[in-house]
Amino acid sequence: MSVMFGKAKSCPECNLVLLGAMGCGKSALTVKFLTKRFISEYDPYLEDIYSSEEIVDHQPVTVRVMDTCDQEGPVNCERYLSWANAFLVVYSINVMESFRGCQLYLKTLSLHNKTFSPQTPIILLGNKLDMDRYRLVSPVQVSQCDGEALAAHFGCLFFEVSACRDFHSVQHVFHEAVRRAKRD
Ligand code: GDP
Ligand code: MG
Repeated sequence: MSVMFGKAKSCPECNLVLLGAMGCGKSALTVKFLTKRFISEYDPYLEDIYSSEEIVDHQPVTVRVMDTCDQEGPVNCERYLSWANAFLVVYSINVMESFRGCQLYLKTLSLHNKTFSPQTPIILLGNKLDMDRYRLVSPVQVSQCDGEALAAHFGCLFFEVSACRDFHSVQHVFHEAVRRAKRD
């Protein structure tokens, strides 16, 4: 499968944007992807773009990750809407409020996508899967079915991971975003 994005370059590039409520683990996921390590405390107000040389499907690609920190949901989205080649919309499976926050992001992104061709792919990502022990009995936790249904409604891919568990599941999601990213 081709991973050529943007203009013809010696090394293709792919810009990923992580969105979601504060505290859902965007920075922990970003750091895990970049360093294979789980950093439990990360500056909650730090927004930055990180770059990593990756091999996806045997091809080199420069992956840039924008780790956002919106405090009020999808406002001032201009900085990432046209920059992104793919979006990862993250919630925490143990915080229903963060799942509701994702719905706002997905609405904003799908409105934006209507004006764009080809559309920018979106992955819905439930994080903190290590906290799923009480999921069946707790109404504040988000079930896998809830996640799947929301993803189906907006036509997104869906994964559940944990930033503090194995690196490969996290890497798989980021690489899948690269695979799905828009190609010219
Ligand atoms: P952000 O605001 O979305 O960037 O969230 P952070 O990455 O700063 O994480 C918020 C809090 O959740 C921190 O205390 C992290 O240690 C914790 N956290 C992040 N990912 C996970 C995870 O997968 N499992 C658990 N148990 N905690 C996590
Ligand atoms: Mg953060």
